[in-house]
Amino acid sequence: MAQIIDGKAVSAAVKAEVAEETAKLRDEKGLKVGLAVVIVGNDPASRVYVNNKKKACEAVGFQSYEYALDESTTQEQLLDLVNVLNRDDRVNGILVQLPLPKHIDEKAVINAISPDKDVDAFHPINVGKIMIGEYSFLPCTPAGVMRLIESTGTDITGKQCVVIGRSNIVGKPQAMLLLQKNGTVTICHSKTKNLKEICLGADILVVAIGRANFVTGDMIKEGAVVIDVGMNRLDNGKLCGDVEFESAEKKASFITPVPGGVGPMTIAMLMKNTLTAAKQQAGIE
Ligand code: NAP
Repeated sequence: MAQIIDGKAVSAAVKAEVAEETAKLRDEKGLKVGLAVVIVGNDPASRVYVNNKKKACEAVGFQSYEYALDESTTQEQLLDLVNVLNRDDRVNGILVQLPLPKHIDEKAVINAISPDKDVDAFHPINVGKIMIGEYSFLPCTPAGVMRLIESTGTDITGKQCVVIGRSNIVGKPQAMLLLQKNGTVTICHSKTKNLKEICLGADILVVAIGRANFVTGDMIKEGAVVIDVGMNRLDNGKLCGDVEFESAEKKASFITPVPGGVGPMTIAMLMKNTLTAAKQQAGIE
């Protein structure tokens, strides 16, 4: 039976580290850390995420600046705001909550954020830096996954790592991070053949596809570390992952639950990135 990886506890530890360092920077260097969070429109899920990010900022001692824009905001207006925030010294990190309304080109907005303040690490410059291993920020969800794997004491070196999903925000950067830690990495996607056989070879399996209970216990190698990034809302309103927990926990050595696994890590890593941005902008790191 697998040990359950407690994402809430690991996330709390990361936030505690960030809070301690933030207090030290304030007391010793008079430095304040600020995160601007921009939300456009009234998507209820986005509103929940933004509120959680603001709460996390308060908890670690950051200033948070919220810009809640009307659904009818034009791309030009949003780009203007991003440019103002790029120049605002109080703002160390800029987060534009996605998705944006359909009339706004997300790529144009991401590309307008100064790479130094791009705490989501979505800007092409930061994506490129991840490829060559010279990064300042890591995208929050894959970075959170790495921290969860680390918390199990698993050495990634030489392990067969399988990532299901190849999105720009999770699957691809996840594969890069596992590769940098010397894993032998296979990336799977919707066109992959023999998915079950590939999964059965995985010592570390990271699943990020967005399909409820897709990966079942018979696809998991005995003793594997299983990380479930998926967040799917069932008809009964319950949240569930991409991995069928009940059958998978019988095979895995470690497994993340949903909720309470990867989810809490994403915000913790955002806080860590914002602190890194503040230090870099102050010439400390
Ligand atoms: P996405 O952009 O929709 O990408 C999904 C990926 O899964 C694609 O690469 C797709 O392959 C692949 N896929 C879909 N069906 C598949 C199948 N039957 N077999 C194999 N691969 C398949 O999703 P995402 O943004 O990466 O997010 C994935 C999941 O993680 C979602 O549930 C999302 O809510 C969750 N998520 C959670 C957090 C968190 O903080 N916990 C953060 C981000 C995302 P193709 O490329 O071939 O289409």
